[in-house]
Amino acid sequence: MLQRLCVILLSVAVCFSMPASAQTKKASPKSVSDSVSTSREKQIAAAADAMRDRLVAQRRDFHMHPELSNREQRTSRVVAERLKAIGFTDVRTGVGKYGVVAVLKGGKPGPVVAVRADMDALPITEVNDVPYKSQNPGVKHACGHDVHTTVELGVAEVLFAMREHIPGSVKFIFQPAEEGPPEGEEGGARLMVKEGALENPRPQAIFGLHVNPLVEVGKLTYTPGPMMASSDTFSLAIHGKQAHGAHPELAVDAIVVAAQAIEALQTIRSRRFAGTDAFVLTVGTIAGGTRNNIITGEVMMEGTVRTLNEDVRKRVPGIMNEVLKGVTEANGASYDLKFRNPYSVTFNQPKLVEETLPTMRRVVGDENLLPAPPEMGSEDFSEFAQVVPGFYYRLGVGNKAKGITAGVHTPDFDADEDSLVIGVKAMSNVLLDYLERHATQTTTSK
Ligand SMILES: [Zn+2]
Ligand SMILES: [Zn+2]
Repeated sequence: MLQRLCVILLSVAVCFSMPASAQTKKASPKSVSDSVSTSREKQIAAAADAMRDRLVAQRRDFHMHPELSNREQRTSRVVAERLKAIGFTDVRTGVGKYGVVAVLKGGKPGPVVAVRADMDALPITEVNDVPYKSQNPGVKHACGHDVHTTVELGVAEVLFAMREHIPGSVKFIFQPAEEGPPEGEEGGARLMVKEGALENPRPQAIFGLHVNPLVEVGKLTYTPGPMMASSDTFSLAIHGKQAHGAHPELAVDAIVVAAQAIEALQTIRSRRFAGTDAFVLTVGTIAGGTRNNIITGEVMMEGTVRTLNEDVRKRVPGIMNEVLKGVTEANGASYDLKFRNPYSVTFNQPKLVEETLPTMRRVVGDENLLPAPPEMGSEDFSEFAQVVPGFYYRLGVGNKAKGITAGVHTPDFDADEDSLVIGVKAMSNVLLDYLERHATQTTTSK
């Protein structure tokens, strides 16, 4: 059931005034003065707390109506309608298929900052017996993108109410197909960038967040530098020569060559790169042969390559080709290696992380802001962060006491809904503080 949210624009008294001394400072980026940030933070906290029930209702609406990658027709429509209901006039739809881009122009001069949420769900059947259970059989928001979209809509509402006092603009990006477009289709962040999501206006930084059910609600985690791996999917065909199973002298056994190829590919990690270079090569599928007494001439494999360093990533295909050429030639076979679905390393610009951490610390408290090691999973926020400096952080949504512990991409994944208000508070403060810090820098350089 579509739960349309009534339009309640926040009548929060907006009163963040900057001290005269701060307005004339030229430090770049300058630190946000304590009094300004405290006053603004209180307004944001009041606004976010007041919308708690509506955030929960919005998240449940998305959760009940999950849509697969590049099929986010309804989600995209709800997002655009909601933005217009809040009061946004600059709302672009159809950017990268079902992507939505909206710009909030503040009342004061300043830079442009962007925030991105992803909207798609996964082909997973929900097993949780909850009132907001997925109504779309076989499809579930099992990666928390319903939370991300809801948080970004909440941030849009909070900041819209404060717009007269915002120094600069905020670009809201709602992205389809983060989990990867269906075979043969374009989509995701890459397509949105291609279709101009980061132009007119171009942001000078971009932020995003992702749920983490392994981190308790109330906490945020961050990783400076490489945070998530690049991902390149490959398909590998080994071509040999078919013959009777009793006559290897007439055959080139593609299964034996494939076995050697897999072994040799695994030595790339151990013998061609430094121990400190994070790198995973996985052959995930293998298929070949038809029956016991036929030596097969064809084997097909698929796999993935993950790295945390774009230089390492660039070297891998060349080395794979060298290895495969050697192995196949030595056996009188040949091969075809093809890559698809490229995702870059998700890189958090260390300077941007460093200048943002005080804001996050202020919002959740020092004890609730935790550093986290990089992960070998991947995320296409990276495609935006390849164009402009980015910072992607994690929102804790787990709650051991309530039994909310299942990982993302599982049938019993869920998120503690207290995370919605925390996400809105964190991201609203992060964006506003960014604009505040960089406002003088931008206005004085024009
Ligand atoms: Zn996912
Ligand atoms: Zn995700």
